[in-house]
Amino acid sequence: MERKHDVIVVGGGPSGASCASLFALGGANVLLLDKEHFPRDKVCGDAIGGKALNVLARLGVEAELKEKGFQRSSGIVFSSPNGTEVEIPLVESKDGMSAGFVCKRKEFDHMLFKRAKLACAVLEGAEVVDLLFEGKRVSGVKAKMLDGSVQEFSANLVVGADGTLSTVARKAGVFSTNAKHNCSAVRGYYNGVLGLRGNVEIHFLPECMPGYFWIFPLSKTEANVGVGMLLSDMFAKKANLRKVMEACMKNPRFAGRFDSARLLGEVGGWNIPLASARRPCAGNGFVLVGDAASLVDPFSGEGIGNGMKSASIAVETLCTVVKNRPVNKEECLAYELGKLPFLLDIAIGKAKKSEKLRNELAGMIASREAKRQAMDPLFVIRLLLS
Ligand SMILES: Cc1cc2nc3c(=O)[nH]c(=O)nc-3n(C[C@H](O)[C@H](O)[C@H](O)COP(=O)(O)OP(=O)(O)OC[C@H]3O[C@@H](n4cnc5c(N)ncnc54)[C@H](O)[C@@H]3O)c2cc1C
Repeated sequence: MERKHDVIVVGGGPSGASCASLFALGGANVLLLDKEHFPRDKVCGDAIGGKALNVLARLGVEAELKEKGFQRSSGIVFSSPNGTEVEIPLVESKDGMSAGFVCKRKEFDHMLFKRAKLACAVLEGAEVVDLLFEGKRVSGVKAKMLDGSVQEFSANLVVGADGTLSTVARKAGVFSTNAKHNCSAVRGYYNGVLGLRGNVEIHFLPECMPGYFWIFPLSKTEANVGVGMLLSDMFAKKANLRKVMEACMKNPRFAGRFDSARLLGEVGGWNIPLASARRPCAGNGFVLVGDAASLVDPFSGEGIGNGMKSASIAVETLCTVVKNRPVNKEECLAYELGKLPFLLDIAIGKAKKSEKLRNELAGMIASREAKRQAMDPLFVIRLLLS
């Protein structure tokens, strides 16, 4: 294994595997490390939204998902606490919307990881435990290998794609967490669920407010079922999410659908770092992508597509430089700014559908007091997404 690469990517989930593949496609010499061995599971709702499809198509994984017949999401159903339901069909390419997929993460992540293995050097069972520095610049990583040895690898750029608890973010000194910008969520796989029609279902039930209950179909009878809530609300309510999920399944509107459903395996839970948090996601010699950068959509809980999009922005911004020399702080910060158009697309797309958000945005721009804040696009995004 070479010790010096153009790029080191830490973490081979959807964000890291995409980032490694795209850098390699751009001609960079890449090392991808993950502490696990693939296929490995990741607790998730397994819904892959339209935002992920461009990168998946470029990597040939969209075609593989279609060939293997994974469940398409034919629409989204939202229901309110009083039981009002709306169904939005996701006709492919209509109004720029695309039907995504629902695919167990164990299989989905493995497809992306195998794609990365074709394009770059990969180490599994290699846990990054520290960063290397040259002066103030992050210049590589220290990884604990399977045999217990700690090995050093250096690169022109280190990408932290190592999820919610990112070691790269911690060791680079930019990690922070806030219960108001973090969700907790649990999910289980259930067979024998009735009424699955290919729709991704999001239900705002009294049992789980202010969070939501989801039913994401994996086939005509199996579904990923879960519930998520903001950590600060969960602490305030002393809520046990497993019990909340059971209560949702027993809600009279759903009880019939779960009467003969059987839990496959165990209910698992994990945290979801939301994009409403304002956290640095780049610095001297490193960038963070996906959950490591806290990029999950606070409204929908979608993190896979956002992670893959952030990976593609990092590659667009930095691929030419990494092939020639170490990336400096200003170049890494250009990635942080490169994310703005994508975040603004989400924020303004939401404002288009909500009068309250439109007024808030207009107020910020029109009012004198708000002028300084309105100059800061990240502040606008945070407000719109909160
Ligand atoms: C219950 C739940 C439901 C969700 N539902 C959805 C959904 O339906 N749709 C959606 O889009 N998003 C959903 N999300 C969010 C989504 O799971 C994440 O946003 C997504 O996994 C982010 O991908 P990632 O590649 O950034 O990180 P991860 O998928 O977490 O991958 C990080 C990788 O880094 C590796 N790693 C970690 N530390 C190290 C280290 N020190 N050294 C080496 N490797 C390391 C890990 O082994 C892992 O493979 C959900 C999350 C939860 C918890």
